[in-house]
Amino acid sequence: MSQLLDFIKAQQGSLLSDLEHLVNLDTPTGSKALVDQAMQVVIDRFQQQLGGTVEYIRQEKYGNQVKLHLGKGTGQILLMTHIDTVWPEGETAKRPFRQEGGRLYGPGIFDMKCGLLQGLYAMHAVAAHYAPAKNIVLFINTDEEVGSPSSRPWIEEEARKSDAVFVLEPALGPSGKLKTSRKGVGRFTLEVEGVSAHSGVNHSEGVNALEELAHQILFLQGLTDYEKGSTVNVGIASGGTAVNVVSGQARAQLDLRIETMEEAERLSRSILGVSPVLPNAKVRVTGGMIRPPMERTASRELFARAQPIAGRLGFVLEETATGGASDGNFTAALNVPTLDGLGAVGHGAHALDEYVEIDSIVLRTALLAHLIVEAMEEPLGTGTLA
Ligand SMILES: [Zn+2]
Repeated sequence: MSQLLDFIKAQQGSLLSDLEHLVNLDTPTGSKALVDQAMQVVIDRFQQQLGGTVEYIRQEKYGNQVKLHLGKGTGQILLMTHIDTVWPEGETAKRPFRQEGGRLYGPGIFDMKCGLLQGLYAMHAVAAHYAPAKNIVLFINTDEEVGSPSSRPWIEEEARKSDAVFVLEPALGPSGKLKTSRKGVGRFTLEVEGVSAHSGVNHSEGVNALEELAHQILFLQGLTDYEKGSTVNVGIASGGTAVNVVSGQARAQLDLRIETMEEAERLSRSILGVSPVLPNAKVRVTGGMIRPPMERTASRELFARAQPIAGRLGFVLEETATGGASDGNFTAALNVPTLDGLGAVGHGAHALDEYVEIDSIVLRTALLAHLIVEAMEEPLGTGTLA
Protein backbone atom coordinates (compact mmCIF):
# COMPACT_ATOMS: atom_id res chain seq x y z
CA MET A 1 0.00 0.00 0.00
CA SER A 2 2.84 2.29 0.80
CA GLN A 3 6.52 2.47 -0.10
CA LEU A 4 7.17 4.06 3.25
CA LEU A 5 5.51 1.18 5.06
CA ASP A 6 7.46 -1.39 3.05
CA PHE A 7 10.69 0.41 3.79
CA ILE A 8 9.98 0.56 7.52
CA LYS A 9 8.94 -3.11 7.57
CA ALA A 10 12.28 -4.00 6.06
CA GLN A 11 13.96 -1.98 8.85
CA GLN A 12 12.08 -3.61 11.72
CA GLY A 13 14.95 -5.91 12.77
CA SER A 14 17.34 -3.00 12.91
CA LEU A 15 14.88 -0.82 14.84
CA LEU A 16 14.30 -3.55 17.43
CA SER A 17 17.99 -4.15 17.98
CA ASP A 18 18.53 -0.40 18.39
CA LEU A 19 15.66 -0.41 20.86
CA GLU A 20 17.23 -3.19 22.91
CA HIS A 21 20.52 -1.31 22.98
CA LEU A 22 18.92 2.00 23.97
CA VAL A 23 16.59 0.57 26.62
CA ASN A 24 19.55 -1.18 28.28
CA LEU A 25 21.27 2.16 28.85
CA ASP A 26 20.12 3.94 32.02
CA THR A 27 19.15 7.55 31.38
CA PRO A 28 17.85 9.09 34.62
CA THR A 29 17.16 12.78 34.11
CA GLY A 30 19.53 13.68 36.93
CA SER A 31 22.60 11.96 35.49
CA LYS A 32 24.14 14.10 32.79
CA ALA A 33 26.96 11.64 32.11
CA LEU A 34 24.63 8.68 31.48
CA VAL A 35 22.21 10.70 29.37
CA ASP A 36 25.03 12.13 27.25
CA GLN A 37 26.42 8.62 26.68
CA ALA A 38 23.09 7.20 25.54
CA MET A 39 22.51 10.25 23.36
CA GLN A 40 25.76 9.52 21.54
CA VAL A 41 24.41 6.09 20.56
CA VAL A 42 21.39 7.73 18.92
CA ILE A 43 23.57 10.34 17.20
CA ASP A 44 25.92 7.67 15.83
CA ARG A 45 22.95 5.76 14.45
CA PHE A 46 21.55 8.91 12.84
CA GLN A 47 24.87 9.75 11.21
CA GLN A 48 25.41 6.20 9.91
CA GLN A 49 21.91 5.91 8.50
CA LEU A 50 21.08 9.41 7.41
CA GLY A 51 24.15 11.60 7.42
CA GLY A 52 22.22 14.71 8.47
CA THR A 53 23.54 17.41 10.74
CA VAL A 54 23.68 17.30 14.52
CA GLU A 55 23.35 20.34 16.71
CA TYR A 56 24.02 20.30 20.46
CA ILE A 57 22.41 22.52 23.04
CA ARG A 58 24.98 22.32 25.82
CA GLN A 59 23.70 21.99 29.37
CA GLU A 60 25.58 21.87 32.64
CA LYS A 61 23.09 20.21 34.90
CA TYR A 62 21.21 17.95 32.49
CA GLY A 63 22.27 16.04 29.40
CA ASN A 64 22.89 18.11 26.29
CA GLN A 65 19.78 18.42 24.16
CA VAL A 66 20.29 17.47 20.56
CA LYS A 67 18.68 18.43 17.25
CA LEU A 68 19.02 15.96 14.41
CA HIS A 69 18.40 17.79 11.19
CA LEU A 70 17.59 16.75 7.61
CA GLY A 71 16.45 18.57 4.51
CA LYS A 72 16.36 22.23 3.61
CA GLY A 73 13.99 24.88 2.40
CA THR A 74 11.56 27.17 4.11
CA GLY A 75 9.46 25.75 6.84
CA GLN A 76 10.15 23.07 9.38
CA ILE A 77 8.57 19.94 10.74
CA LEU A 78 9.49 19.25 14.33
CA LEU A 79 9.53 15.80 15.91
CA MET A 80 9.64 16.01 19.73
CA THR A 81 11.11 13.22 21.86
CA HIS A 82 12.96 12.78 25.12
CA ILE A 83 15.68 10.32 26.05
CA ASP A 84 15.52 10.76 29.83
CA THR A 85 13.48 8.36 31.95
CA VAL A 86 12.19 8.32 35.52
CA TRP A 87 14.31 5.26 36.33
CA PRO A 88 17.49 5.48 38.45
CA GLU A 89 20.95 4.25 37.56
CA GLY A 90 21.11 0.45 37.88
CA GLU A 91 17.48 -0.15 36.91
CA THR A 92 18.26 -1.68 33.52
CA ALA A 93 20.70 -4.14 35.12
CA LYS A 94 17.82 -5.34 37.31
CA ARG A 95 15.21 -5.36 34.56
CA PRO A 96 16.90 -5.51 31.18
CA PHE A 97 15.05 -5.40 27.87
CA ARG A 98 13.08 -8.58 27.31
CA GLN A 99 10.43 -9.96 24.98
CA GLU A 100 7.39 -11.92 26.14
CA GLY A 101 5.02 -12.93 23.39
CA GLY A 102 4.17 -9.87 21.38
CA ARG A 103 5.39 -7.43 24.00
CA LEU A 104 8.72 -5.79 24.72
CA TYR A 105 9.55 -4.78 28.29
CA GLY A 106 12.19 -2.55 29.85
CA PRO A 107 12.62 0.71 31.77
CA GLY A 108 11.55 3.68 29.68
CA ILE A 109 10.67 1.58 26.63
CA PHE A 110 7.12 3.00 26.43
CA ASP A 111 7.96 6.45 27.80
CA MET A 112 9.59 6.97 25.40
CA LYS A 113 12.60 5.26 23.94
CA CYS A 114 10.52 3.34 21.42
CA GLY A 115 8.94 6.61 20.26
CA LEU A 116 12.37 8.22 19.92
CA LEU A 117 13.50 5.46 17.56
CA GLN A 118 10.20 5.59 15.67
CA GLY A 119 11.00 9.23 14.98
CA LEU A 120 14.48 8.34 13.75
CA TYR A 121 13.23 5.55 11.48
CA ALA A 122 10.36 7.65 10.13
CA MET A 123 12.92 10.29 9.13
CA HIS A 124 14.97 7.54 7.53
CA ALA A 125 12.00 6.33 5.49
CA VAL A 126 11.13 9.84 4.35
CA ALA A 127 14.72 10.64 3.38
CA ALA A 128 14.98 7.37 1.42
CA HIS A 129 12.03 8.33 -0.79
CA TYR A 130 11.93 12.12 -0.93
CA ALA A 131 14.31 15.03 -1.06
CA PRO A 132 12.85 16.88 1.94
CA ALA A 133 11.61 20.27 0.80
CA LYS A 134 11.43 21.44 4.38
CA ASN A 135 13.67 21.11 7.38
CA ILE A 136 12.89 18.03 9.41
CA VAL A 137 14.18 18.29 12.98
CA LEU A 138 14.15 15.57 15.60
CA PHE A 139 14.54 17.32 18.97
CA ILE A 140 15.75 14.98 21.69
CA ASN A 141 15.06 16.40 25.11
CA THR A 142 16.95 15.38 28.24
CA ASP A 143 14.94 16.92 31.08
CA GLU A 144 11.32 16.25 30.12
CA GLU A 145 10.61 14.09 33.15
CA VAL A 146 11.30 17.01 35.49
CA GLY A 147 9.22 19.52 33.52
CA SER A 148 11.80 20.60 30.88
CA PRO A 149 13.41 23.42 32.91
CA SER A 150 16.55 23.74 30.76
CA SER A 151 15.04 22.76 27.40
CA ARG A 152 11.85 24.78 27.36
CA PRO A 153 13.21 27.94 25.66
CA TRP A 154 14.87 25.80 22.96
CA ILE A 155 11.72 23.78 22.37
CA GLU A 156 9.74 26.99 22.03
CA GLU A 157 12.30 28.45 19.64
CA GLU A 158 12.12 25.37 17.40
CA ALA A 159 8.32 25.31 17.60
CA ARG A 160 8.10 28.92 16.40
CA LYS A 161 10.02 27.94 13.27
CA SER A 162 7.78 24.93 12.62
CA ASP A 163 4.67 24.32 10.53
CA ALA A 164 3.78 21.24 12.52
CA VAL A 165 4.96 19.44 15.64
CA PHE A 166 4.69 15.69 16.06
CA VAL A 167 5.21 14.51 19.63
CA LEU A 168 6.36 10.92 20.04
CA GLU A 169 5.06 10.41 23.55
CA PRO A 170 3.25 7.10 24.06
CA ALA A 171 -0.25 6.59 22.73
CA LEU A 172 -3.09 5.91 25.15
CA GLY A 173 -4.81 2.59 25.71
CA PRO A 174 -4.74 -0.67 23.78
CA SER A 175 -5.92 0.95 20.55
CA GLY A 176 -3.22 3.62 20.77
CA LYS A 177 -5.27 6.81 20.90
CA LEU A 178 -3.58 10.07 20.05
CA LYS A 179 -3.60 12.80 22.68
CA THR A 180 -5.27 15.82 21.16
CA SER A 181 -5.62 17.75 24.38
CA ARG A 182 -3.58 17.73 27.52
CA LYS A 183 -4.08 19.52 30.79
CA GLY A 184 -1.73 22.26 31.90
CA VAL A 185 0.20 21.89 35.13
CA GLY A 186 0.89 24.25 38.01
CA ARG A 187 3.11 23.64 41.04
CA PHE A 188 2.90 25.58 44.28
CA THR A 189 4.48 25.55 47.71
CA LEU A 190 2.55 26.75 50.75
CA GLU A 191 4.42 27.84 53.86
CA VAL A 192 2.66 28.37 57.14
CA GLU A 193 4.09 30.18 60.11
CA GLY A 194 2.49 29.86 63.52
CA VAL A 195 3.77 30.63 67.01
CA SER A 196 5.45 27.77 68.80
CA ALA A 197 4.79 27.17 72.47
CA HIS A 198 4.92 24.41 75.10
CA SER A 199 1.85 22.24 74.70
CA GLY A 200 1.40 21.79 78.44
CA VAL A 201 2.63 25.05 79.94
CA ASN A 202 1.32 27.72 77.57
CA HIS A 203 -0.82 26.09 74.89
CA SER A 204 -3.03 29.16 74.63
CA GLU A 205 -0.12 31.40 73.65
CA GLY A 206 0.78 29.24 70.66
CA VAL A 207 -0.61 29.33 67.14
CA ASN A 208 -0.46 25.85 65.68
CA ALA A 209 0.87 25.96 62.13
CA LEU A 210 -0.41 22.43 61.50
CA GLU A 211 -3.92 23.46 62.44
CA GLU A 212 -3.66 26.39 60.02
CA LEU A 213 -2.27 24.04 57.38
CA ALA A 214 -5.26 21.73 57.86
CA HIS A 215 -7.61 24.63 57.06
CA GLN A 216 -5.56 25.53 54.02
CA ILE A 217 -5.46 21.97 52.71
CA LEU A 218 -9.24 21.68 52.91
CA PHE A 219 -9.64 25.00 51.13
CA LEU A 220 -7.14 24.13 48.38
CA GLN A 221 -8.48 20.64 47.74
CA GLY A 222 -11.93 22.22 47.61
CA LEU A 223 -10.92 24.29 44.57
CA THR A 224 -11.17 21.09 42.50
CA ASP A 225 -13.91 21.31 39.90
CA TYR A 226 -14.25 18.08 37.94
CA GLU A 227 -16.83 19.58 35.61
CA LYS A 228 -14.35 22.18 34.44
CA GLY A 229 -11.57 19.58 34.41
CA SER A 230 -9.66 21.41 37.11
CA THR A 231 -8.00 19.56 39.96
CA VAL A 232 -5.93 20.59 42.96
CA ASN A 233 -3.91 17.94 44.73
CA VAL A 234 -1.99 18.61 47.94
CA GLY A 235 0.55 15.86 47.47
CA ILE A 236 3.04 16.54 50.25
CA ALA A 237 2.58 18.12 53.67
CA SER A 238 4.86 18.39 56.67
CA GLY A 239 5.37 20.37 59.83
CA GLY A 240 6.05 20.39 63.53
CA THR A 241 9.09 19.50 65.59
CA ALA A 242 7.87 17.50 68.60
CA VAL A 243 4.63 16.11 69.94
CA ASN A 244 4.68 18.42 72.96
CA VAL A 245 5.33 21.58 70.96
CA VAL A 246 2.62 23.77 69.45
CA SER A 247 3.89 23.64 65.89
CA GLY A 248 5.44 26.88 64.64
CA GLN A 249 6.05 25.81 61.03
CA ALA A 250 4.30 23.74 58.39
CA ARG A 251 4.42 23.44 54.63
CA ALA A 252 2.72 21.70 51.74
CA GLN A 253 3.26 21.21 48.02
CA LEU A 254 0.44 21.06 45.53
CA ASP A 255 -0.20 20.20 41.92
CA LEU A 256 -2.79 22.01 39.81
CA ARG A 257 -4.19 20.60 36.53
CA ILE A 258 -6.39 22.65 34.23
CA GLU A 259 -7.80 22.41 30.70
CA THR A 260 -7.80 26.08 29.71
CA MET A 261 -5.67 29.15 30.31
CA GLU A 262 -8.74 30.82 31.80
CA GLU A 263 -8.89 28.19 34.51
CA ALA A 264 -5.12 28.44 35.00
CA GLU A 265 -5.45 32.14 35.73
CA ARG A 266 -8.55 31.82 37.89
CA LEU A 267 -7.14 29.05 40.09
CA SER A 268 -3.60 30.44 40.26
CA ARG A 269 -5.13 33.64 41.65
CA SER A 270 -7.08 31.70 44.28
CA ILE A 271 -4.09 29.61 45.30
CA LEU A 272 -1.63 32.51 45.46
CA GLY A 273 -4.16 34.62 47.31
CA VAL A 274 -4.92 32.34 50.26
CA SER A 275 -5.25 34.07 53.60
CA PRO A 276 -4.84 32.65 57.10
CA VAL A 277 -7.81 31.37 59.09
CA LEU A 278 -6.28 31.47 62.58
CA PRO A 279 -5.46 34.83 64.17
CA ASN A 280 -1.70 35.48 64.12
CA ALA A 281 -0.93 32.71 61.63
CA LYS A 282 0.90 33.62 58.42
CA VAL A 283 0.66 31.89 55.07
CA ARG A 284 2.77 32.37 51.98
CA VAL A 285 2.36 30.66 48.61
CA THR A 286 4.93 30.57 45.83
CA GLY A 287 4.84 28.91 42.43
CA GLY A 288 2.79 29.05 39.28
CA MET A 289 2.05 27.27 36.02
CA ILE A 290 4.91 25.13 34.72
CA ARG A 291 3.15 23.86 31.60
CA PRO A 292 0.30 25.55 29.75
CA PRO A 293 -2.64 23.39 28.63
CA MET A 294 -2.60 21.85 25.16
CA GLU A 295 -6.03 22.82 23.90
CA ARG A 296 -7.66 20.69 21.23
CA THR A 297 -7.71 23.46 18.63
CA ALA A 298 -3.96 23.00 18.13
CA SER A 299 -4.42 19.34 17.17
CA ARG A 300 -7.65 19.33 15.21
CA GLU A 301 -6.31 19.69 11.70
CA LEU A 302 -3.38 17.31 12.09
CA PHE A 303 -5.62 14.70 13.64
CA ALA A 304 -7.99 15.03 10.68
CA ARG A 305 -5.01 14.22 8.44
CA ALA A 306 -3.81 11.33 10.53
CA GLN A 307 -7.10 9.42 10.57
CA PRO A 308 -7.31 8.65 6.83
CA ILE A 309 -3.61 7.76 6.72
CA ALA A 310 -4.19 5.24 9.51
CA GLY A 311 -7.20 3.95 7.57
CA ARG A 312 -5.03 3.33 4.51
CA LEU A 313 -2.44 1.60 6.71
CA GLY A 314 -5.23 -0.62 8.02
CA PHE A 315 -6.02 0.61 11.50
CA VAL A 316 -8.51 2.85 13.23
CA LEU A 317 -7.10 5.93 14.91
CA GLU A 318 -8.94 7.59 17.79
CA GLU A 319 -8.22 10.60 19.93
CA THR A 320 -8.48 11.33 23.62
CA ALA A 321 -7.76 13.93 26.27
CA THR A 322 -5.31 13.36 29.11
CA GLY A 323 -4.40 14.96 32.41
CA GLY A 324 -0.70 14.24 31.83
CA ALA A 325 1.48 16.93 30.29
CA SER A 326 4.29 16.77 27.74
CA ASP A 327 6.49 19.10 25.73
CA GLY A 328 3.53 19.26 23.33
CA ASN A 329 1.92 21.60 25.87
CA PHE A 330 4.61 24.20 25.14
CA THR A 331 4.36 23.98 21.36
CA ALA A 332 0.55 23.98 21.29
CA ALA A 333 0.45 27.02 23.58
CA LEU A 334 2.33 28.91 20.84
CA ASN A 335 -0.49 28.00 18.44
CA VAL A 336 1.74 25.70 16.43
CA PRO A 337 -0.27 22.71 15.15
CA THR A 338 0.72 19.85 17.45
CA LEU A 339 -0.16 16.19 17.42
CA ASP A 340 0.84 14.10 20.43
CA GLY A 341 0.82 10.43 21.35
CA LEU A 342 2.36 9.33 18.05
CA GLY A 343 4.84 7.04 19.79
CA ALA A 344 4.50 3.50 21.00
CA VAL A 345 1.34 1.57 21.74
CA GLY A 346 1.63 -0.20 25.08
CA HIS A 347 1.08 0.45 28.74
CA GLY A 348 2.69 1.33 32.04
CA ALA A 349 4.54 4.63 31.74
CA HIS A 350 6.59 5.15 34.94
CA ALA A 351 5.52 1.66 36.12
CA LEU A 352 7.31 -1.65 36.54
CA ASP A 353 5.17 -3.45 33.97
CA GLU A 354 5.96 -0.93 31.22
CA TYR A 355 5.79 -2.50 27.76
CA VAL A 356 5.21 -1.81 24.07
CA GLU A 357 3.31 -3.91 21.53
CA ILE A 358 5.70 -5.10 18.83
CA ASP A 359 3.04 -5.20 16.12
CA SER A 360 2.29 -1.51 16.49
CA ILE A 361 5.82 -0.21 15.99
CA VAL A 362 6.08 -0.48 12.20
CA LEU A 363 2.56 0.85 11.58
CA ARG A 364 2.96 3.84 13.89
CA THR A 365 6.33 4.65 12.36
CA ALA A 366 4.71 4.54 8.91
CA LEU A 367 1.89 6.79 10.12
CA LEU A 368 4.46 9.35 11.26
CA ALA A 369 6.43 9.11 8.01
CA HIS A 370 3.25 9.79 6.03
CA LEU A 371 2.35 12.71 8.28
CA ILE A 372 5.79 14.21 7.67
CA VAL A 373 5.40 13.82 3.90
CA GLU A 374 1.93 15.39 3.93
CA ALA A 375 3.13 18.27 6.06
CA MET A 376 5.96 18.84 3.57
CA GLU A 377 3.68 18.73 0.55
CA GLU A 378 0.42 20.25 1.76
CA PRO A 379 0.68 23.30 3.95
CA LEU A 380 -1.62 23.28 6.93
CA GLY A 381 -4.44 25.73 7.18
CA THR A 382 -5.26 25.59 3.44
CA GLY A 383 -8.53 23.84 4.08
CA THR A 384 -7.84 21.19 1.45
CA LEU A 385 -8.10 18.44 3.99
CA ALA A 386 -10.64 19.95 6.31
ZN1 LIG B 1 7.44 10.93 28.18
